[in-house]
Amino acid sequence: MPKVAIYPGSFDPVTNGHLDIIERGLKLFDRIIVAILTNPGKKFLFTLEERIEMLEASMKKFSNVEIDTFDGLTVDYAAQRNAQGILRGLRALSDFEYEFQMALMNRRLNREVQTVFLMTGLRWIYTSSSIIKEAAQFGGTIKGMVPPVVEKRIKEKFGGQS
Ligand code: ADP
Repeated sequence: MPKVAIYPGSFDPVTNGHLDIIERGLKLFDRIIVAILTNPGKKFLFTLEERIEMLEASMKKFSNVEIDTFDGLTVDYAAQRNAQGILRGLRALSDFEYEFQMALMNRRLNREVQTVFLMTGLRWIYTSSSIIKEAAQFGGTIKGMVPPVVEKRIKEKFGGQS
């Protein structure tokens, strides 16, 4: 049976840190489903369509990666997609507490699905979608931290030159 993982998140927008985790994840899983959580209660910079488009453009170099959207419980979505794993990335210590809590809750909800944490590459340890948005908003360069398509889209959003 092929090993499948879902990689859930907001991806608002996708960063090189996310791509690093996908690349590492593909060494363990036959297929990864990047699953964008469509949480109506959360404020996003990019629309769902824009986030999908940027992910698609950034995923061209990977085969065996699918992009999908979901709402509701992550474990229910994983079961529905016949995924054995939930892939999550770990950066600095700050990620740990939240991720630990979520992984244990998910295990309680469905013992068949395993959360797999992968350590990000050192280069991406401080890269997050929110810090990138913050820097870009005030004209800071985000070159090398996000795929080129994201760099262009963020500049457009904040009214800069592409
Ligand atoms: P969320 O809204 O769940 O925080 P994100 O899209 O920000 O979603 O992140 C999805 C997953 O990717 C999380 O497991 C997060 O820890 C991980 N991630 C985000 N940025 C990085 C990075 N720079 N390196 C490794 N993992 C990352």
